[in-house]
Amino acid sequence: MSLSIVHYPHPTLQHRSRPIVRVDAKLREMAAEMIELMYENEGVGLAANQVDLPIRMFVANESGERGEGEEWVVINPVIDRPKGNESGQEGCLSVPGIYSQVKRPKTVRLQGYDLKGNEINVQLDGFLARVVQHEVDHLDGVMFFDRIGEESRREIEGALAEFETTFASLRNTGSIPDDAELARRLAKWEEAYT
Ligand SMILES: [Zn+2]
Repeated sequence: MSLSIVHYPHPTLQHRSRPIVRVDAKLREMAAEMIELMYENEGVGLAANQVDLPIRMFVANESGERGEGEEWVVINPVIDRPKGNESGQEGCLSVPGIYSQVKRPKTVRLQGYDLKGNEINVQLDGFLARVVQHEVDHLDGVMFFDRIGEESRREIEGALAEFETTFASLRNTGSIPDDAELARRLAKWEEAYT
């Protein structure tokens, strides 16, 4: 299979993904492809929604470089114990070129599972805490610019509108299926993995 990154305002980005109940070779392949796409596009994280998959899984590497830093594949992530508050710049592979300051808890606890079924239970802070919160937001259908103030939102409104125009024309030419077809595809994945 071959995954590709979907851009705002693709409907799957607003979809709340369901927990994964089955890990098989195909799912491991999807995770590997997501890691590949993340590095290729110079990202530090990628959530399943961003490759049009309605399942709770993300990949991340805060270094953004293969072979450097720690590479994460997290299944069914849960975040809790938020502490502190910090503003930091965020961008997103689903809206390349758009950046904004986003205020988030400074430290969080991340729980979940890796691809082998090992439990993950870690306290995160700094940039990785931000990346993980951004990715878990995706799984709930939330984009980083859903979390910014009105003023910051106005600054990126024009750029977002350009993505909306591009999306509309891709739809018109049939490159992106209509909502009903997308919903059918998501339902198929949900049936297989959630
Ligand atoms: Zn993102």
